[in-house]
Formats: sequence, structure tokens, C-alpha cells
Amino acid sequence: MRIVLLGLMVLGMTAVVNLPMARAEKTPPTATQPAEVTLTGSLACAVCELHENGARGHQDALVVKNGDREIVYFLTGAPKHANVCHTHIDGVTVKGVVTVRNGRQWVAVSSLELPKK
Ligand SMILES: [Zn+2]
Repeated sequence: MRIVLLGLMVLGMTAVVNLPMARAEKTPPTATQPAEVTLTGSLACAVCELHENGARGHQDALVVKNGDREIVYFLTGAPKHANVCHTHIDGVTVKGVVTVRNGRQWVAVSSLELPKK
């Protein structure tokens, strides 16, 4: 009985751990076309506002809330829409392809939409 309970607990834990991955697999990347994702969060300078170590110059980043965690996506190829040093803009929607490099998430931005005023 004890073993069965333990097994159920392990199964339950695995299910919880796998949840974000399962969601990410909704649009699986193919060899020819990496999947584009849509992220909404707050746009800020990774250096001045977020104080991310290792970021050089003024690096745009999008902070996306995932439950009680915040994920910082570094943006590349983003058009410079606004000065987000020492401030941030909430409700920014970014579309692009996410890659992981040096333990950071990078988004090759294809479109960036500021919130409508
Ligand atoms: Zn800055």
C-alpha cells in the first residue's frame, strides 16, 4: 500500500513538473520553421531597470509572469519603440522565436506591439 501511495505521489509530481513543457509543445518546432510564440509582459531595459548581470549596453527585455515566477526574455532584432531605461511598459506583446543561449531566453522578435493608450 505504501509503495502504491509513493508511486502515485511520484506520478503526481511528474505531472506538475511536466505541465509547462506540455504547454510549450503545443506548437512544436519543425526543422524548417521554428515555432513562433506570442508573449505578453512588461518591456524594460535589462541593464538599467532589471539589473541583469552580463547584459551589455542597453538590452530590451520582456518580463513575463508565469504563475508566481517571472521569466526574463531578452529581445533581439526588436525595433526601438521606446526608451525603457529606468522604467517599464506593461502590456507589451511580442511575437518571435525563442531560443535558449547561455542560460537565458532570447526572442528573435518579428513584431512588438505596445499597449493601446
Ligand atoms: Zn538602459
